Amino acid sequence: MDKSDLELKIMSRDTNGDIVEGLLTCPSCQRYYPIVYGVPIMQPDEYREQQLEKPILDRWGVQAALPATTNQ
Ligand SMILES: [Zn+2]
Repeated sequence: MDKSDLELKIMSRDTNGDIVEGLLTCPSCQRYYPIVYGVPIMQPDEYREQQLEKPILDRWGVQAALPATTNQ
């Protein structure tokens, strides 16, 4: 699990001001963790599905890739 300080980019909030969608990124290792329906997706790389996350990132206009898949 990533222990570095993560940068938060908020994509959308609900009417209470709570984060609904956002993106956490790690400046040191370039990992990213989408927040969907208010829940950060912070699983280890091997349990993540880049193909499931890509449409979300595309909708946000974010260019990102998991470190495990960048060399493929
Ligand atoms: Zn990191």
